[in-house]
Amino acid sequence: MNLRRVSGKEEPIPLEEVVLLPMQRFIWLLSLLPIQSWATDSTRATSSPSGKALYAGLERLSEELPRVWWDRQWVNACRPKDIRSIIAPVRIRLEDSMQGFHFVVPVKGRVASGFGYRRGWQFHFGIDVELRTGDTVVAAMDGEVRLAGYDRGGYGYFCVIAHPNGLETVYGHFSRLLVEKEQLVKAGDPIGLGGSTGYSTGPHLHFEVRFMGEPIDVSSLLDFENGVLLERELQISAESFAHLERIRSIVYHTVRSGESLYSISRRYGISIKYLAALNGLSPQSILRPGQRLRVR
Ligand SMILES: [Zn+2]
Repeated sequence: MNLRRVSGKEEPIPLEEVVLLPMQRFIWLLSLLPIQSWATDSTRATSSPSGKALYAGLERLSEELPRVWWDRQWVNACRPKDIRSIIAPVRIRLEDSMQGFHFVVPVKGRVASGFGYRRGWQFHFGIDVELRTGDTVVAAMDGEVRLAGYDRGGYGYFCVIAHPNGLETVYGHFSRLLVEKEQLVKAGDPIGLGGSTGYSTGPHLHFEVRFMGEPIDVSSLLDFENGVLLERELQISAESFAHLERIRSIVYHTVRSGESLYSISRRYGISIKYLAALNGLSPQSILRPGQRLRVR
């Protein structure tokens, strides 16, 4: 199931809520900002061509950040229309012992399903890690629980943690939540017990890392089986969101004589049921040549 769609209500947050922030929390988050983030040091950032790009990107991103941090209602609090057109390459630190910023793999286990397409058409926005019901899942990094609760269709018992490096992490399918929203957590703090609530076929953790509300693939940075972080920095650029182009592009197919829902579904690697639903048809429908069908 496309979890983004389940929880994907886009709702702008009123400006007053951004302005009337509890000042203490804001200062706490600022104090945790790693050196290279969020455009405080403009001289260094603009001194090299790549730095310039970085700074230009951050300047625009900073307008969006408060929404990511302060929304208390939606998992997808901030989702730009097309992140690829506004983002400049950024490097985000996941681990910095000098700054006391650490990354802890949330749970050790075999990866059952990775980031990307499943069954040809269904996009999985996270990494599924096998666990036993009741296993402790911990926060990956220091941060604030932006959202915690129950999502009926998708995540089950879940929480979203906003981190001062600009990332968010999402954890789903808990059997029990151990945190509340607005709670501050340190990397390694227990946040939930593993389970299989929501859209899940067996006990596992659904783990997402998001930047500006968009999930990104971090599988190359993490070794879940051994519980090890493989890279200290995460590089993000427009390329990191290349998958969105395919996901969000709508594709039509014009039916030729002799074609059926079956043959078209095979051709595009989608199920008949999905193809029919996408076009408001029943799976038994007979097609007529020239008919235009949405296939993605
Ligand atoms: Zn998952």
